[in-house]
Amino acid sequence: MEHFVSIERWNDYIRGQSPMLVRVYHCHMQYRTLGKTGLRISVLGYGASPLGSVFRDIDESEGIRAVHTAIDLGINFIDVSPYYGLTKAERVLGKALRTIPRDHYYLATKVGRYGVEVFDFSAKRVTGSVDESLKRLGVDYVDLIQCHDIEFGSLQQVVDETIPALERMREQGKVRFIGITGLPLKIFPYVLDRVAVDTILSYCHYGLNDTTLADLVPYLQQKDVGVISASPLGMGLLTRQGAADWHPASGEVKLVCAKATAFCNSRGVDIAKLAVQFALANQDIHTTLVGTANPDNLRKNVEWIEQPIDHQLLEEVFGILKPIQQQTWPSGRPENH
Ligand code: NAD
Repeated sequence: MEHFVSIERWNDYIRGQSPMLVRVYHCHMQYRTLGKTGLRISVLGYGASPLGSVFRDIDESEGIRAVHTAIDLGINFIDVSPYYGLTKAERVLGKALRTIPRDHYYLATKVGRYGVEVFDFSAKRVTGSVDESLKRLGVDYVDLIQCHDIEFGSLQQVVDETIPALERMREQGKVRFIGITGLPLKIFPYVLDRVAVDTILSYCHYGLNDTTLADLVPYLQQKDVGVISASPLGMGLLTRQGAADWHPASGEVKLVCAKATAFCNSRGVDIAKLAVQFALANQDIHTTLVGTANPDNLRKNVEWIEQPIDHQLLEEVFGILKPIQQQTWPSGRPENH
């Protein structure tokens, strides 16, 4: 069992207001080693994209509270990008982290994506980008720097130019480990067969409606690569509020997921619970990133992973999702998906 001091109490403690009232939370979060990085990270990671108002408009104080709640709950791995809210997420996260000791969390950010259609994986841009992120986040180094959505760029450039540039940043102590992210699974072996990286981040490929990341796991294990899976709620598909208008899934996927949600509702269960429990049950995935700016959702997510999964409901939901199982959508350059 790991012991965590509430951040609110920790702040009071630092300010000397109530040094005798430090409360210690007994939290049941589990931790796994992120491949060859050796970092012991929480099985539930905090995805900070909502801090950039990606899903809905949020104010800064709400975002800061969410980050502090995540750390209170034993989450020690935080993922962000300059792309989220066009630097807003990094700025809000930086403010939230200002009062937290640097050794209480592992921080991952990204390079290469700067807008819906703005990509630049050149050595010059990514080098400047790391320095800009460090400034916004208010830290001297990040634990993990990831090339963001590489399927939109030239994979050859990522191999020949981007990763070597990040290696130089590593030598300067500005980043500790290097990773790659994106949607189509085939991008990962392309890069890993040509250059060593420490982690991969895959999204929307390990959840109730798509489990294709599992097929790549033996290859990733053979390379001792850290496996980060994001979006267990399918970026909103597997929630009661449903997918937003911008969601790239087909109408059929959205409809069938909505059917599964309604079915769970009829059984008095929030589909998000089943989705989080299912995704987190896979021990080969080192951490699963859920994004939310809502502290209540964060608490629910942590509570749900401690509760037993309803296997019968799971089977019934799989039955409903069968027609769209493993269906994804195109992303990036045609040759990369
Ligand atoms: P997600 O599947 O975590 O879904 C987020 C949505 O679910 C939000 O609308 C949120 O409010 C809602 N939600 C969260 N917990 C809930 C709960 N308990 N009940 C009901 N609704 C809940 O998708 P995501 O946010 O896109 O992914 C998580 C993180 O993963 C991102 O913040 C980001 O850090 C990372 N990510 C990275 C990439 C990439 O690098 N290419 C891509 C996708 C996601």
